[in-house]
Amino acid sequence: MKNIRNFCIIAHIDHGKSTLADRLLEYTATVSERQAQAQVLDDMELERERGITIKSHAIQMDYELNGEKYVLNLIDTPGHVDFSYEVSRSIAACEGALLIVDSTQGIQAQTISNLYQAIEHDLHIIPVMNKMDLPNAMPDEVEDQIIDLIGCDREEIIRASGKTGEGVHDILSAIVDRIPAPQGDEKGPLQCLIFDSVFNSFRGIIAYFKVVNGEVHKGDLVKFMATGKEYDADEIGVLRLDMEPRKVLRTGDVGYIISGIKTSKEVKVGDTITHVKGGCDKRIEGFEEVKPMVFAGVYPIESDDYEDLRASMEKLQLNDASLTFEPESSAALGFGFRCGFLGMLHLEIIQERLDREFDMNVITTVPNVPYNVYTKKGELLEVHNPSGLPEPTVIDRIEEPYIHAQIITKSEFIGQVMTLCLAKRGELQKQHYLTADRVELNYSMPLAEIVFDFYDKLKSISKGYASFDYYATGFKPAKLIKLDILLNGESVDALSTLIHFDNAYTLGRRMCEKLRELIPRQQFDIAIQAAIGAKIIARETVKAVRKDVTAKCYGGDISRKRKLLEKQKKGKKRMKQVGNVEVPQKAFLAVLKLD
Ligand code: GDP
Ligand code: MG
Repeated sequence: MKNIRNFCIIAHIDHGKSTLADRLLEYTATVSERQAQAQVLDDMELERERGITIKSHAIQMDYELNGEKYVLNLIDTPGHVDFSYEVSRSIAACEGALLIVDSTQGIQAQTISNLYQAIEHDLHIIPVMNKMDLPNAMPDEVEDQIIDLIGCDREEIIRASGKTGEGVHDILSAIVDRIPAPQGDEKGPLQCLIFDSVFNSFRGIIAYFKVVNGEVHKGDLVKFMATGKEYDADEIGVLRLDMEPRKVLRTGDVGYIISGIKTSKEVKVGDTITHVKGGCDKRIEGFEEVKPMVFAGVYPIESDDYEDLRASMEKLQLNDASLTFEPESSAALGFGFRCGFLGMLHLEIIQERLDREFDMNVITTVPNVPYNVYTKKGELLEVHNPSGLPEPTVIDRIEEPYIHAQIITKSEFIGQVMTLCLAKRGELQKQHYLTADRVELNYSMPLAEIVFDFYDKLKSISKGYASFDYYATGFKPAKLIKLDILLNGESVDALSTLIHFDNAYTLGRRMCEKLRELIPRQQFDIAIQAAIGAKIIARETVKAVRKDVTAKCYGGDISRKRKLLEKQKKGKKRMKQVGNVEVPQKAFLAVLKLD
């Protein structure tokens, strides 16, 4: 145990976490030259393309310093707010963290929010300034920022480059010298912290864990405390580039267990594994059930594909327990599912995977956050869909989820950022200058406002010089009402939204305008209306057009005609028939793209 070091890397996105991790693996000869494929740790295709680490992983390295052999476990953490609970569990499995700051960028919002979590868990922090090879590195300024942030000595900050390898040996020796060995009671009852799980089509669910106390042997009868389910530890081992089976894992070790677990729901990140006989009676602290924070309807474009869509969702859920779904029907869209996601990125990822891995052509409806609705009788209803809202007369109050937001930007953009946050119902909590021209703003804001294009707007008003992170803080009452959209007099349930009363009129008008742009002209006039209850608050019309698209080809050119018809057919695929109106997918997300 005294020669084990468990650590993670915290960094803002693109500051070089994956690249530096690869260098560590290379310098400790964990990967051979031949295996050295860029960014070994990001092994999902989608992760690579998007350059983000979606699921956390762990990897063990051997390292020798002054004749002493050490085992270093790198626990990789996801870098996006949608997955912040997984970050917190990975951090809880470590004793130290590398804090990587891009020397050309300085400290950013995610650097800070992840750092706070690491400090909360008493991790030893090793500050690293990365990308020192770049000519526009600002080492002195960034050093000042780091010192100001964590209160370390200037000498403690390691200057490094994931590209040239500068500083990598210093980082490795700092991991051994500065990060404490894991603590824990080697003779005590078994307690393992699960920090991740993956689905393997041959072996089922594989859980990753750290042994906090005691030891576990192959074949032991173990229990996952959150579910109470018991399993035989068929195989346990450590994570190198591949899984390497072991007979025993001891206090401080990081490893995996394969025990015939069929679905991801049985393995909850943050849960405790113990022995059935002589086990511990308390779970490791900090366990939470992750709850979806964004909901949306997912409908097949062809209603015949409903069962296929269900099968695809079930498969996705096997390895992504944070995805929830339940059948739902919409008068406009037919049969589909109401799905819960951790956040907008998660939603996009699932949508993309449905398309890529399952070839499912789906319509996604306007996302919304979960609402707590209290009835006059004092009941609490969790509403995941605006059309599931009870009659206004029975509602006592509605509460919506709030977040604590951290925004870091250049001082010159403070005015615009504050205006934006105010428009998004934000309340300024704290304003703090990191340096003369960089400021950290803290806001309390409704989550719903973040879901709707907040980040894009923030980026554009700050010309990219703003970073943003948040965590959920609980529910607060809000004056929310349901805004309905009618097409030719028929209310389209999939276009209903719950919004704040103050924004209803403006939003209703803009929705109608946007839909007029997005809904193609058809053979008859289409009336688009926005309504609150029975009251129409806005109206637009899409004028009729003659159907024959070939009419504009002035007779003649047959091949051109055929092309046009094919184009029309293709265009149709992304359309959904709603009553007698054809509505494109884009229209269902119109509310997200209003300016
Ligand atoms: P992550 O999002 O923190 O995992 O960042 P990545 O490791 O994916 O790196 C983001 C980008 O920065 C990639 O294009 C890397 O090639 C580049 N990069 C990472 N480290 C360095 C470095 O030390 N020097 C230079 N010049 N580029 C780097
Ligand atoms: Mg990465």
